[in-house]
Amino acid sequence: MHDGRFDQRELLMEVTERASRFLLALPDRRVAADPAAVAALEAWSASLKLPDAGIAPRDVVAELDARLSAATVASAGPRFFGFVHGGSLPAALAANWLAGAWDQNAFSTASSPAGVLIEALAGAWLLDVLGLPSDAAVAFTTGATLANFTALAAARRRVLADAGWDVEADGLFGAPPITLLVSAESHPSVRKGLGLLGLGRRRVVELEVDRQGRIRADRLPDLDGAAIVCAQAGNVNSGACDPFEALHDWCAERRAWLHVDGAFGLWAQASPTLQSLTAGVALADSWATDGHKWLNVPYDCGIAVVRDAEALHGAMSFGAPYLPTEARREPFHYGPEASRRARGIEVYAALRSLGRRGLAEMIETGCRHARRFAEGLGKAGHTVLNEVVLNQVVVSFGAAEIDRAVIKAIQTAGECWCGPTNWQGRDAMRISVSGWATTDDDVERSLASILQCASTVLRDNAGSR
Ligand SMILES: *Cc1c(COP(=O)(O)O)cnc(C)c1O
Repeated sequence: MHDGRFDQRELLMEVTERASRFLLALPDRRVAADPAAVAALEAWSASLKLPDAGIAPRDVVAELDARLSAATVASAGPRFFGFVHGGSLPAALAANWLAGAWDQNAFSTASSPAGVLIEALAGAWLLDVLGLPSDAAVAFTTGATLANFTALAAARRRVLADAGWDVEADGLFGAPPITLLVSAESHPSVRKGLGLLGLGRRRVVELEVDRQGRIRADRLPDLDGAAIVCAQAGNVNSGACDPFEALHDWCAERRAWLHVDGAFGLWAQASPTLQSLTAGVALADSWATDGHKWLNVPYDCGIAVVRDAEALHGAMSFGAPYLPTEARREPFHYGPEASRRARGIEVYAALRSLGRRGLAEMIETGCRHARRFAEGLGKAGHTVLNEVVLNQVVVSFGAAEIDRAVIKAIQTAGECWCGPTNWQGRDAMRISVSGWATTDDDVERSLASILQCASTVLRDNAGSR
């Protein structure tokens, strides 16, 4: 018999070696996944049958490293500007490993006092840095999609309870109708959440937006009866934020619930110089945001915040004879899941390592980098389509097929990674600067590569006419 504990130590040291090697190489490797490695992985995974006999843990890890590392996208590195990703702060990644060893089930105090307490602390710190009411309820979810769903479940409960209907007990058949007012520029996850809640993706009334994608407070419709209004902090293309003060006043007069999807834009609240963008956002009834985007914690981590803790509790709580019944805020009474990892641990670690100032700097630096991209692209004669108010840049190099070709050339060159989007009916390229690791030099290298790719595509296109 071998000593199992000794084996595990060896194994974890080896994983540390492999992971460190991966992370050290990250700033210099091509950003897109290596196509040959992806093809090899595809062939291997398609042919591998589950064997009757297993293999040693260290062989499992060695095989994963050999087969997958080169097939990863370097989104944890400094020059990935696709979607709205972030990387993993060193403290957050290390905390994630330790938490993996602990393997705590954060659903309740009985199963994990440590997990529940650290999440309560992380939740209180989040409310503090995001400037949200200190007595709001916080739920850690897998992402902003589920955070939107969670907050909207609380909204559904409250507006129907006010109309004399218990939706958790009686469902939606025969319930009073709820009017859903959703920004025409809302993220699709908001409608998905409404669909999952039985409120209907297509039943929404779209609120008119301006050219930056902000709800027009001067064009709100007539309204009466139960209503939920969905606004956003951080348009997924432009980064623009809705006029929260005006929306709040309008909702308060009509007793409508105001929800804000702030997956990344809510983090403007963490910076004294950016807070004016999200002015009044704290007046809303509920918020959704992500930890795995701009806070740079590992996947998966989203956060739902609800001012009316009772509404969230009513929507989410459940009981069983073996479950704790104490009055304390047990996580399983406030979120969509029961058993889950304590994802608040990495949130705590990120905030603890950054501090208030480090967090503000990380957010402000992303915005500064975005402005530099916009400036460089504009100077070279390309069209920046949005006002760059946050970390997002939408740019076009010409007709749709030109943009597509430039994006492909950028991804193939591998110096950085940007993806396509459609902004108010026009195909374009999107740059999102959300990773903690991006330096000024990374921005210059990436800009040079983007401009080079664009000029090659434009020259070839002119030549082929
Ligand atoms: C990313 C994003 C979401 C969805 O978040 P996930 O973490 O991917 O579930 C929702 N809304 C906005 C504005 C986003 O940027």
